[in-house]
Amino acid sequence: MDFSSLSAIQISQLVSQKKVSATEVTQHFLRRMNEGDKNLGAFLRIDTEGALAQAARLDSQLSREGGQHFRLCGVPIAIKDMIITKDLETTAGSKILQGFVPPYESTVVARLREAGAIIVGKTNMDEFAMGSSNENSAYKPCKNPWDVTRVPGGSSGGSAAAVAADFCPISLGTDTGGSIRQPAALCGVTGIKPTYGRVSRYGVLAFASSLDQVGPFARYVEDAALSLEVIGGYDAQDSTSIMETMPNLVKACQGSVKGLRIGVPAEYFGKGLDPAIETLVKDAIQLLVSEGATVVPISLPLTKYAVAVYYMIATAEASSNLARYDGVRYGHRSSPSSKEQEQSLLSMYEMSRGEGFGAEVKRRILLGTYVLRSGHYDAYYKRASQVRTLIRQDFLRAFQTCDVIAPPTSPIPAFRAGERVTDPLAMYLADIYTISCNLAGLPGISIPCGFMQSDTNTKLPVGIQFLAAPLEEESLFRVAGNYQKMTDFHTQRPSFEKSTEVVI
Ligand code: GLN
Repeated sequence: MDFSSLSAIQISQLVSQKKVSATEVTQHFLRRMNEGDKNLGAFLRIDTEGALAQAARLDSQLSREGGQHFRLCGVPIAIKDMIITKDLETTAGSKILQGFVPPYESTVVARLREAGAIIVGKTNMDEFAMGSSNENSAYKPCKNPWDVTRVPGGSSGGSAAAVAADFCPISLGTDTGGSIRQPAALCGVTGIKPTYGRVSRYGVLAFASSLDQVGPFARYVEDAALSLEVIGGYDAQDSTSIMETMPNLVKACQGSVKGLRIGVPAEYFGKGLDPAIETLVKDAIQLLVSEGATVVPISLPLTKYAVAVYYMIATAEASSNLARYDGVRYGHRSSPSSKEQEQSLLSMYEMSRGEGFGAEVKRRILLGTYVLRSGHYDAYYKRASQVRTLIRQDFLRAFQTCDVIAPPTSPIPAFRAGERVTDPLAMYLADIYTISCNLAGLPGISIPCGFMQSDTNTKLPVGIQFLAAPLEEESLFRVAGNYQKMTDFHTQRPSFEKSTEVVI
């Protein structure tokens, strides 16, 4: 059976009804990823042995008691390497955590396992989730399955590429300023960043704690809804977790868009947006209008400050969060090369950090330390936090006149590897449409809305983003589910297997 063409929901039904075994399903996907990933680099670690052991355990449990209560019964899921997996090395894509095998489980992975999911491996990413192209991974780059000369986006590039390449039906990513939605758009899959506080951050390595959220990638919107229902909801282990039960998001995918008011923000359709993307996004909105939605022109005037505010807040929080990697407790410790170094604790810290962190992480730590320096705090971090509140108010005002806001996800399609990596500002601007959502704590989803031709004549996916008021994920799934029923962009497959053969 070709499991790759099935949704996670269908796989889960087949396994729980014992029409196929979890082992068969797992073997199918392991074969795909072990063969196909050699030329893609979506995985940092494929846990073949662990995945088969989980599948065998599930199969024997199913033979004893049946599996109706498992919502992701036998569904293979890949986890971004930013998220802790018990007994499975977790590095955040960084050399500083090389060899770190966590002794405990993150809440999201624990919930997936309880739901019967099979954890198949850890996906490639920009080091500590800092980047938009996956080129900051300390281990290897990840390629875009639609065009292997291009980046998959980032920082959750591996998770997006793994789903696009059919290595697994669902993966998890993290999104601090766009790291789920931007790679989802560039790889032609669905990715959602939930409301801040919806999903537990317990066991998720911290980048910028007031912005980080975990969310799923999937080919089918319903699979994203189901996996978010499973991982989301209150967790006493995370003090920022919201005390709300998860709504029925799978059901929301069946909802109608009749009467839904779609806000179209003028500021997101201006200079810098690729005209081919603008056309596809506007066509998508028009299609929803033909189903009964209405368009409301809105304005989010503070959008122009978002990138600057984000790079002050995110770097300040990162510099403080990353202070814990000092060579004492986890990961890399520099081996002293002289007597003098051996005697100095400070030099051990400095050398371990100097060797363990990559260039982008060091740049962020320096920027963040500068932003937080005494005498600078009021001018930078405090001021940025105040503007952040105003950006949130901008959105809340807009949501008085519309139910969802529909900007593009990325101003440009997948760019060529190496094209932006030497220009940090150009790279930072790739997130211009995704960052405000994190600053305001809103939920945001990106779904495929078509394809454009690259300048080298390859077919590149384009994403449309929908944003909603805090805790209104149901509206996102209503509109995304509806749109996916009318289109077939999500069922089209990349040709990376063919193109990698040529590369060999
Ligand atoms: N690309 C942005 C950055 O580099 C966002 C990253 C993220 O969401 N983790 O910070």
